Amino acid sequence: MNIKDHIREVPDFPKPGILFYDISTLLMHPAAWRHTVEQLAEAMAPHKPDLLAGIESRGFLVSAPLALKLGCGFIMLRKKGKLPGATVKHSYDLEYGTDTIEIQEGAVQPGQKVVLVDDLLATGGTMAAAAHLIRKVGGVVPAAACIIELTFLNGRSKLDMPVTTLAQYD
Ligand code: IMP
Repeated sequence: MNIKDHIREVPDFPKPGILFYDISTLLMHPAAWRHTVEQLAEAMAPHKPDLLAGIESRGFLVSAPLALKLGCGFIMLRKKGKLPGATVKHSYDLEYGTDTIEIQEGAVQPGQKVVLVDDLLATGGTMAAAAHLIRKVGGVVPAAACIIELTFLNGRSKLDMPVTTLAQYD
């Protein structure tokens, strides 16, 4: 089963000149999707996570079934203003401007192992910010998992934990 066969490449989205890797087609194919989740589960199980942290929004699609498979909890890292109740925030720099992600207060207990999950690793800025936020609330980040990696952007160089990806594009 080749996961790349089920990832759609959409030119000029969301802006001219950007090639967007779309997992919608992977989600529509139950066997390929099951294979994807199983491969990530196999890679993440040795890290023995207490929790998975899904990164909004496609990261949620990956982390929910992965958490069930691993038998651990799943928490949401969301963009500013989406989570009810008290939150902890982290703001980080983008190419132009800044962005803020949030986690619910009390979602992570100090010392818990939290594996980060997203659909795609590009520059690594999003994943680095997610790791920062989990550590800010006392969590430990043993690993990260993504379906897709744009290797030419070298996102791994921004990250200090092992990252598993299933489909690399250069
Ligand atoms: P980074 O912060 O540059 O690593 O960008 C990664 C984030 O942008 C992830 O949350 C992805 O969901 C999103 N992203 C960037 N490019 C793509 C793409 O081609 N397809 C799907 N998501 C993308």
